[in-house]
Amino acid sequence: MKKKLLTVAFSGVLLTSGAFIPTTTTLAGESGPNGPDFNGHETIKNERLHSYEEMTDFLQKLDQRSEALELEVYGESVKGRDLYLAKFGTMNKDNPTILFLTQQHGNETLTTEGALQVIKYLTSNGHNVKEILENVNVLIAPRLNVDGAEGDVNFSLEDYVSGTHTRYNANGVDLNRDHVDRKQPETKALHENVLQKYKPDYMIDLHHQGTQVTLGDTGEQVSGSILYPTNDKVDPEVREQSKKLGSVVYDAVEAKGYGLLSKYPGGSAQTISRNGLAAEYGISTLLLEMRGMADHYKDDYVLGQKSNSYLIQQAVTAMKATLNALADGSIESADTSFWETLPESNYEGE
Ligand SMILES: [Zn+2]
Repeated sequence: MKKKLLTVAFSGVLLTSGAFIPTTTTLAGESGPNGPDFNGHETIKNERLHSYEEMTDFLQKLDQRSEALELEVYGESVKGRDLYLAKFGTMNKDNPTILFLTQQHGNETLTTEGALQVIKYLTSNGHNVKEILENVNVLIAPRLNVDGAEGDVNFSLEDYVSGTHTRYNANGVDLNRDHVDRKQPETKALHENVLQKYKPDYMIDLHHQGTQVTLGDTGEQVSGSILYPTNDKVDPEVREQSKKLGSVVYDAVEAKGYGLLSKYPGGSAQTISRNGLAAEYGISTLLLEMRGMADHYKDDYVLGQKSNSYLIQQAVTAMKATLNALADGSIESADTSFWETLPESNYEGE
């Protein structure tokens, strides 16, 4: 059964940068006994993803076992959940420092699953890991929006397909529109205790987009989309280095069978981390949007379980390729000319 969720009633929500007041509307009879049907995808089984408690447990156990990992609590969410930063490397100032940030939007879950795999990988003692950690300072901040990811928020999620995850934080604010004001505890902590403290040179911000995004006018569904900072206050050299970061990610993902990336048609507002961190701190940033979401009030944004494994691998591939390119310096020779011909996303959903 094709459901019509409240696209019209809620169409303004994504455009709202501040808090919004959700309308109370009920969706009678939308879910069958096996849950809703998502355009031929199977039912949503979000319980396979790491809950906050499971993520915390995972990180703390790795921290106990690993010499390489230093786990830090850098802040607290609206609802009092600790925010974790996984640190690796010597923190030598001669080495480049990169931050991987995931799940600013609580319903964009597989980014964090990928980050947890990379954290685990960096606690292993392989030759490649040793080379990375001698040459790169690695910061991984998994799941900034810990409350939205638990659905533990001060507004109703009854209009969401699954009702378990939301884009917004507990106060109903889009954290990725709060990078100038930093009025929310999550963004404030990220800026003061991670960005200003460790001064990363690079940042990849991992997100998810709708499922129906295609590559230009080809009609081919993409596995993800990328974009560098587009705010005009950003130093051209910072933007160029961001494009190199994008080149590394593009080559690594496109080399995979599932990989097809488009250019994300993103805005230039400084409130968005891709733009704001580049403009304010000179960090070379890349947005990586992956296909589909764990939950949304628009049903064609929601992705079933079948695609989870390749999308998690896409995130892991992007992060590992970046670490290798920073470790051996090959990022400096990355060819940025592909950006000029990379087709923009086309959105064929509702
Ligand atoms: Zn997002």
